[in-house]
Amino acid sequence: MGGVVHTHSTYATAWAARGEEIPCVLTMMADEFGGPVPVGPFAIIGDDSIGRGIVDTLAGSRSPAVLMRNHGPFTVGRDAEAAVKAAVMLEEVARTVHAARQLGEPLPIDPAAVDRLYDRYQNVYGQGSADGADAVNGPATNAEEAHA
Ligand SMILES: [Zn+2]
Repeated sequence: MGGVVHTHSTYATAWAARGEEIPCVLTMMADEFGGPVPVGPFAIIGDDSIGRGIVDTLAGSRSPAVLMRNHGPFTVGRDAEAAVKAAVMLEEVARTVHAARQLGEPLPIDPAAVDRLYDRYQNVYGQGSADGADAVNGPATNAEEAHA
C-alpha cells in the first residue's frame, strides 16, 4: 500500500461536516481528482470501518481524496509525498469552491472535458496522485470500466 494522509484541515473538514461532495468546477480539480471529491460514510475510529469506508468510496471514483462524513479528509497516493500533495490540493480546492459558492453557483465542467483534462495531466505530465490510488485500490479501475 502507498501513502495515506489524514488531516482535519479547515475547509475540507467543513465539507465533510456537511456530507457534501466537492463538485468538479475547477480545471485543477479535473487534473488532480478526475471529478468531484466524494464523501465516505460515517465511521467510528477503532475498528476497520474507516479503512473499509475509504477503500469502498475511492473504488467508485478517480479521486485520490475522500471526505469521511462528519470527520475529515483522507488522501492516498503511490507514496507518502503523493498523498500529502493530494491533501494540500484538496484543502486548496475546498477553500476555493467554498469561496465561489459565496458568489453564486459555480459552473460545472463538462464531463468529457474533465476526462480530457484528467487524462492529459495524469498521462502526459505523469505527476498525478491517482496512480497511487489505483495501486492502493486495484478494483477501482475495473469497477469504472464495468459501468463506463
Ligand atoms: Zn481524524
